[in-house]
This record gives sequence, structure tokens and C-alpha cells, in this order.
Amino acid sequence: MQIPDIIIAIDGYSSTGKSSFAKLIAGELRYTYLDSGALYRGVTLAAMEGRCISEDRAIDETALKALLDAGLDLRFVGSGKEGALYIGERNVEKDIRSMEVASLVSLVAALPFVRAFVDMKLHEFGSGRRVVMDGRDIGTTVFPDAELKIFMVADADVRARRRAAEMAAKGEEVDLEEVKRNLLERDYMDSHRETSPLSRAEDAIVLDNSYMSFEDQMDWVKGILSSRFGASESE
Ligand code: C5P
Repeated sequence: MQIPDIIIAIDGYSSTGKSSFAKLIAGELRYTYLDSGALYRGVTLAAMEGRCISEDRAIDETALKALLDAGLDLRFVGSGKEGALYIGERNVEKDIRSMEVASLVSLVAALPFVRAFVDMKLHEFGSGRRVVMDGRDIGTTVFPDAELKIFMVADADVRARRRAAEMAAKGEEVDLEEVKRNLLERDYMDSHRETSPLSRAEDAIVLDNSYMSFEDQMDWVKGILSSRFGASESE
């Protein structure tokens, strides 16, 4: 499918399937997919391993800031299913998806200097347009001029089941209630923080995919791409 060079911003609540949907769209359009949540998770992992977070979840902001200022080397290697986040030469894709990182990431992501660091990376990676980016504040703060903005929502039980199945498939033992609690906690913290809270951009189109298959979602977005951007199925 061909369309002009644009930025597609996909925001929404935790585990609404933003990444899967964004990857499918990127594959269809031969665009680059950028997972902003992975960067926040990467910073959180680095903070944990650099002892910037205590057992009672207090963050040593000075130490974390020093770690970022020293040039934390976060980057994406590969694309599509093979795409992974690296810190330097180390593939951290599995580590950043752990329950421990999930339970701390929203605290770290609320810090303005962390957001500035991640925003800078996203602008660096997305400078050429032709990107599909997913997160919480892409359409409101990171790329407010994105030509297409989608805001994803879904029923909390459906979301918890999807996330638990995804983690189980990767071999991580999970408790469904804990997964649900974590995603509701993150939704709350992400929506209530002071800097760039999760919210729907005025010009974002809402997609509730609780009971939609991937195919249904692709049909939906293809309809929008053709009516708004004249997309055609031909090469
Ligand atoms: O998308 P994912 O669930 O991996 O994101 C993990 C966390 O990173 C979110 O719960 C949120 O705290 C933070 N995040 C954010 N802004 C973004 C993307 C993610 O604050 N644009």
C-alpha cells in the first residue's frame, strides 16, 4: 500500500495492542516502527541495574540524571518481529518486558528529564518521517503535527488476558490478577502525571479493539488511509 511520507502516532492505554497494530501498519506501508515504551523500559532497566532505584521504589534522580547525561546508548536493532532494543551491544528486549520493569516504569517515565531524554531519541529516530510510533504522548507532545493519530482503548479484562498470554508465550510465569492490577496502575499513573500525561489528542481517532481481530483493525485503518491519504493497494 502506498501513501505520502507521514508520521502515524498511536497512543492509548496499556496493553491495548498498540505495538502489534503499529507493527502491522508499518509492515503494510514499509514504514519504520518505533516503540517509545521500549525506551522508557530501557531507561528503567538501566536505572535498576545502576542502583538508582531503592527497594521501596524511591528514585535517586541525581544518579539517574548522571546516567542519562553520560549518554545511555539506547537503540533499536532490526525491524518487525526481529526488532529489539539494545543498550550498547546488549540485547535487552526480554529484560525490559519483565514484571519488575513493568512495575517501575511509570514512576521513571513521570520524571521530566527522562521524558526529555526519550523525546530527543524519538526525534532522532523519526526525523525522516515514514514512521509509525506508539506510546502515550506521541500525538499530544512528541509529534503533535503527526498526520494520522489513533487513540486505542479496550476493555481491561480483555487487555489483561492478552498481556498475560503474551508473557506466558515468552516463558514468563504470570498471575492474571497481578497483570491486570499492573496495567490499571500504569494507566492511572500515566494519565495523572504532570508532564505529558496520557490523553487523547483532539484530532485523534478512537479505536476500541476489545472485540476486533487484527484483520478487522487493518481493514479499519486501510479505510482511513485511502480516504485521507489516497492510499492505493498497488505498488
Ligand atoms: O508501551 P509500554 O506499555 O511498553 O510502555 C511502558 C510505560 O512507558 C508506560 O506505562 C508509560 O509509563 C511509559 N510511556 C510513556 N510515554 C510513552 C510511552 C510509554 O510514559 N510515549
